Amino acid sequence: MELLKSLENKEICYFCLPMKKYIQHPLFKIITEAAQQLNVEAYVIGGFVRDIILERPSKDIDVVAIGSGIDLANAVAKKIGKRTKVTIFKSFGTAMLNYKEYQVEFVGARKESYNRNSRKPIIENGTLEDDQNRRDFTINALAISLNQHNLGELLDPFNGIKDIESKTLRTPLDPDITYSDDPLRMLRAIRFATQLNFSINEASLKSITKNKERIKIISNERVIDEINKIILSPTPSIGFKILFDTELLEIIFPELDNLKGVEVINGQSHKDNFYHTIEVLDNICPNTDNLWLRWAAIMHDIAKPSTKRFEKGHGWTFHGHEDKGARMVPNIFKKLKLPLDAKMKYVQKLVRLHLRPIALVKDVSDSAVRRLLFDAGEDIDDLMILCNADITSKNPEKVKKYLANFKLVKQKLIEIEEKDQLRNWQPPITGELIMEVFNLKPCREIGVIKDAIREAILDGDLKNEYDSAYQFMITKGKELNLVPAK
Ligand code: ATP
Repeated sequence: MELLKSLENKEICYFCLPMKKYIQHPLFKIITEAAQQLNVEAYVIGGFVRDIILERPSKDIDVVAIGSGIDLANAVAKKIGKRTKVTIFKSFGTAMLNYKEYQVEFVGARKESYNRNSRKPIIENGTLEDDQNRRDFTINALAISLNQHNLGELLDPFNGIKDIESKTLRTPLDPDITYSDDPLRMLRAIRFATQLNFSINEASLKSITKNKERIKIISNERVIDEINKIILSPTPSIGFKILFDTELLEIIFPELDNLKGVEVINGQSHKDNFYHTIEVLDNICPNTDNLWLRWAAIMHDIAKPSTKRFEKGHGWTFHGHEDKGARMVPNIFKKLKLPLDAKMKYVQKLVRLHLRPIALVKDVSDSAVRRLLFDAGEDIDDLMILCNADITSKNPEKVKKYLANFKLVKQKLIEIEEKDQLRNWQPPITGELIMEVFNLKPCREIGVIKDAIREAILDGDLKNEYDSAYQFMITKGKELNLVPAK
C-alpha cells in the first residue's frame, strides 16, 4: 500500500502530505471554514479515515468538533446552501447531513464513563484525546485535522497505522475495560476481523472470553446486526471460528455451537458439522450476496445433533434432519430477532429441500425432477446454489465426481423446465371450474380432483395444459360418481 509506505516515512507524515490528498473534496474545505468561523476545532475521525488507508472507499464521514457538533453541522449546512437539511439527534448531541455522495455525521468530542449494568455511558464534553480514548480499536481512533494550522495532519495516538500494517485489531485501552464497558465491542472486533481479514491481538481474545457473559446486556437486535455483517463478509467462517473459540457463540447462538464435535463409535466417525456448516457458508459466498440464502447455508444442518443415530452396519445417520431443521427455523429466528416473514419462510423452505437435488444424482427420473421443480418453485436456482455449496469432502476426487453428477442434474432441470414449465406452476384447472362443470358447492371432491390432476402432471401421465387436464377432470369426476352439468 503506497499510502502506508509514505506514512511510515516520518518526514512526509510530519508535513501531512499523504492525508491532505484525501481531504481535497470541497466538503472538507467547507467544514474547515465553518469550524474556523465558529472558532472550534474539527477532525475527520474513525471508520472513514481507517477505510481511506485501507483503500476501501467509504461514503460515511464522521466529524468530531471540539465544541458543539450540532452548531458545526448547522454552520456547514448554511455554507452549502440549497436548503441543506440537517437532521439533529438532540439526545445524542449529534447532527447529520448529506452532501453529494457523502453522509456526514457531526458530534462534539466527548469523554465517557460507564457503569456496570449498561452500555450507555455517562457523557461529558471532552478533548480530541478524550474522544480518541473512547474509541473501540486503535484503527478506529485515527483522526485527520481539518484545522488551518495543521490541516491534513494525521493524529494517531495509539499507533493505529502500525496495527493496520500488521492487520491487527487492538483496543486503545486495557481490553478488559474496553469490552466490559461496552460488550458490543467484542462482536465489533470479530466483525472487523472478518470484514478486513485482520487478527485480534492475543490479549483481546483472552479478554473477550473472560468478558463473554457481559454480552447478555446487549440487545438481540444489536447482536444480530453484527452477526449479519459477519455473514455478509467475503469469508464469514473467519468470524464464526472466533465466535466459537472465544465461547461467545454458545451464548448468542447455542444451536450452531452445538454442531461442533465428532463422535466415534466402532472406529466410525461423522463430519464435524460446525466446520462443515461454515465451509458451506464460505462456499456459497462467491455465488450470492443474498443474506437469506447465506442464512439457509447456516441453518441447513442445524438439526443434525438432535437427529444423530448410530445404526449398526450402517454407521452414522441423521434421518429427517432436513424436516426437523426446517421446523427449528421459526424459533431460532424469533430468538435472534430475525424477521418472521417471507424471508424466514424462504430459509425454512431451503432447509427442508436441501437434500432433494443431491438425491437426484441417484434418481434422475423426469418425475423426480418435476416434483423438485414444483416444490422449489421460484427458489429452485437458490436451492441449487445451496446444494452445490453443500458438496464438501476432504477427498477432492469425491467432490469432483459429485460436482460432475450434479451438473447433469442441473442440465436435466433446465430440460424439464423448458418442456413442462413447472417452476411457477398454476393448476390448469381451477376449483371454480370444477364446481361449475359438475354443479357443485364447495366439497371434498374438488380437492380430490385438483390433487389428482397435479399428481398426474408431476408423474408425467398428463400434459401440463388446459385441454388434456379438462378431459382428465371429466374422467376423474365420473370415477367419483359426479355428473357434468352440461
Ligand atoms: P462500519 O461503517 O463498517 O460499521 P465504522 O467503524 O465506520 O464501520 P460505525 O459504527 O459507523 O463503524 O462507527 C464509527 C466510529 O465510531 C468507529 O470507527 C469507532 O471509532 C466509533 N465507534 C462505533 N461504535 C463504537 C463502540 N461501540 N465503542 C467505541 N467506539 C465506537
